[in-house]
Amino acid sequence: MVADLFINICIVIALIFIYMKLRWSRFSDTVYTLTDLIVDGTAGGFMGYILMIFSIQVTEETIMDLRFIPILLLVIFVRKRSAFLASVLIVSGRFFIGINRSAVYSIYMVGILLIGFILLEKLVKKRLNLFMKTLVLSLYANTVVSYFLVIMVGETDLLAPLFLVYWLFSVLGSMSAVFMVNYIRKSEYLFAKYENESSKDFLTDLYNVRRFDEDWNSLAKKAVNSHSSLTLILLDIDHFKAINDTYGHSVGDYVLKELAQVIVTFVGSRGSVYRKGGEEFAVILPYSSKAETELLAEELRHKVETHQFIPSEEAVVEVTVSLGAAVYPETTDALKTMIEAADNALYHSKNSGRNQLSFNG
Ligand code: GH3
Ligand code: MG
Ligand code: MG
Repeated sequence: MVADLFINICIVIALIFIYMKLRWSRFSDTVYTLTDLIVDGTAGGFMGYILMIFSIQVTEETIMDLRFIPILLLVIFVRKRSAFLASVLIVSGRFFIGINRSAVYSIYMVGILLIGFILLEKLVKKRLNLFMKTLVLSLYANTVVSYFLVIMVGETDLLAPLFLVYWLFSVLGSMSAVFMVNYIRKSEYLFAKYENESSKDFLTDLYNVRRFDEDWNSLAKKAVNSHSSLTLILLDIDHFKAINDTYGHSVGDYVLKELAQVIVTFVGSRGSVYRKGGEEFAVILPYSSKAETELLAEELRHKVETHQFIPSEEAVVEVTVSLGAAVYPETTDALKTMIEAADNALYHSKNSGRNQLSFNG
């Protein structure tokens, strides 16, 4: 029996791990769709069914297991709706294992478990931490399961040693399950957060140069393989040092943030925008011809020139940008040196009086 319960705990942990790996990255706290409900409810039902298969045979028709754990997990971590669906599936699954009095009682037992979990969870939500909450819920589950076993089997003397081991393992099982979900949830959350932060520029919230390199390499590969075009536009603020010197560094920062916003809003879904460093930005446009690039870049240059940069009531800062662009395969067929090509074009714009667009070559 100890071995059986131990296997049950191992099953719980293994299934949680698989489920979390497949599911958690797609989990949204704000919208909970019907698909989410079906996926979570079915996953819970599946876990409950597996746990019933690996159950302990108490009598000919009565089994004892940890089927309440998926319901408990869904109530605590996911939604009550999905816990309800899981409960329905677990009860139905019980009839597949055997159609008898025990299976019928299982309807009442799972129903009482679900209602109790929901009420208790609400009651202790604000008062107890996660582990105390789990303890309360699993003790409740043990009481309910034991009560039904007594009704089914009748002989309490026979059940006493069984209960002792069951209570111990059931609390241990719930605790490990909750610990596991909480642990994976936290680490997945932190991983996603750090991954996002490591690709973003702190000041402007644009993608940073590291992300630029990654995206550029993968888009360049794609352009070659699919024989499609690829545009790179580099922008550099004109006389930005003078803005810093005249208005101060914080106004310089404001200009960088505001300009980032102007570029992102203008480019929209047509391409991606990056802060390459200092006061230099990059725009990558997939599938754009030279003519389209010229139109877009000119319009962007004009947008910046006419945009009102107002850091405070007393100051209006005039900002212009110089742009250099390269278009594969129209202006260059060498993707490897395309960043330098766009940089040369930018240099050309700077040397020709600034506030203008140049192409390489
Ligand atoms: P050019 O028209 O030739 O591009 O002249 P410029 O003054 O814009 O170029 P330069 O490279 O001489 O100066 C860039 C300045 O940008 C110097 C640096 O202090 C400033 N800068 C770089 N990063 C930041 C930042 O994050 N915030 C602020 N406020 N200034 C920055
Ligand atoms: Mg500059
Ligand atoms: Mg510069």
